[in-house]
Amino acid sequence: MEPEVVIVGAGAAGIAAARRLQQRGRDILLVEAMRRVGGRAHTETVQHLPLDLGCGWLHSAERNPLADFARAQGTVIDRSSAAWRNQLRNLGFSTADQRAAERAYEEFEQRLHSEAADDCAGNAIARDHPWRPYLDMISGALNGAELDRVSARDLLAYDDSASELNWRLPGGYGTLIAGAAAALPLRLGTKVTAIDDSGPRVAIDTDKGRIKADAAIVAVPTDVLARGDIAFTPTLDDHVHAAACLPLGRVDKLFLAIERPEAIPPETHLLGDPRNARTGSYYLRPFGWPVIECFFGGIAARAMEEAGDAGRVAFAIEELGTLLGRDFAAGLHPIAGSWWHREPTIGGAYSHALPGHASKRAILAAPAGERLHFAGEACSRHDFSTAHGAWQSGIDAADRVEALLNTSPSP
Ligand SMILES: Cc1cc2nc3c(=O)[nH]c(=O)nc-3n(C[C@H](O)[C@H](O)[C@H](O)COP(=O)(O)OP(=O)(O)OC[C@H]3O[C@@H](n4cnc5c(N)ncnc54)[C@H](O)[C@@H]3O)c2cc1C
Repeated sequence: MEPEVVIVGAGAAGIAAARRLQQRGRDILLVEAMRRVGGRAHTETVQHLPLDLGCGWLHSAERNPLADFARAQGTVIDRSSAAWRNQLRNLGFSTADQRAAERAYEEFEQRLHSEAADDCAGNAIARDHPWRPYLDMISGALNGAELDRVSARDLLAYDDSASELNWRLPGGYGTLIAGAAAALPLRLGTKVTAIDDSGPRVAIDTDKGRIKADAAIVAVPTDVLARGDIAFTPTLDDHVHAAACLPLGRVDKLFLAIERPEAIPPETHLLGDPRNARTGSYYLRPFGWPVIECFFGGIAARAMEEAGDAGRVAFAIEELGTLLGRDFAAGLHPIAGSWWHREPTIGGAYSHALPGHASKRAILAAPAGERLHFAGEACSRHDFSTAHGAWQSGIDAADRVEALLNTSPSP
């Protein structure tokens, strides 16, 4: 098989790139190591509920290209406000403490802007500040890592461009993105092991044989590139090093079914322990469903990895029991959960730049020669870590390839 363009990785970025080129009439092939499409966009239907184990929110919704895509598909969009900022009945988190924690975050943001010379986000708040654990918890959700592991410039690049408008898809964000691949030529369960850009055509070696193409778009997670899973000829030291400086953080979800859902109001939220970074964020009854979505990021996610399946469930039930009562907590049962770092061809949640390395996103996103291009959430300048950032990076890479193919007809 000799398509014009091979796209490696069928996550949001790879699917967007493949669709764009297919719409331009190009002969393409999307190659994916897993036995499903979507990558970190993955909806699992359990007890008739479409649960998003990866992305769930259309962030910066007013300018989110996937919101436009969802609308065009006729997909139902939920535009109600997110409940994250509210603590149900102020349980375990008094209004005075909520205000103090918010003030600490605002001061932290101001210091990030004013102390730009120091690129470690963790240095913008004292280590013994009473709300430091709260800020590390927020960093865990935003970056998948604590502040000491995050570039201040990178964090600001996201923060300054993201809006407060966040929408959801009751049918699942993963459903939307996987559905976008429905009409694409696809090879599932096929792992790319090497890409040789030195010959007359680009040679893409997979565990099922060689494919040749006029160009390739590599849309795999940074940890996969940094590990050297794909051997490049000529070697691409700058890209591989950039990927290593943009590691995937840790974020995981656990869904608990509720025996007595009427005991808690729908669309509400609880933070387990606002004074501890090793805590869960609990979205109660999203869409009114009889479930709690437990979210662990950064320090908390790593603690849950150590705790394992049963330990994570016990931890969440303990925190929820402390706030909502032991009787209520006794009626909670796990029905689904993610361990993204265990997925061999993904390796984590989303990318953050290590201190001093915000500029690596531009290096990763730059083409490696005329025929070899990169896409994926980590390539986005300010929408990294998101599904729409990944999607847009795929479109951008496809447009660069299209420009190349237009100027140099295939041999
Ligand atoms: C728990 C969690 C919550 C999230 N919440 C949100 C949210 O609310 N909103 C939001 O916008 N984003 C969210 N995200 C982030 C979002 O899901 C990702 O940024 C986005 O889906 C990444 O898309 P991608 O195409 O860059 O990479 P991926 O989706 O990782 O796709 C890359 C694909 O490449 C494949 N691959 C790897 N190596 C090879 C190989 N050698 N050969 C062939 N294929 C290979 C992988 O199997 C994978 O399918 C969340 C992520 C997680 C984990």
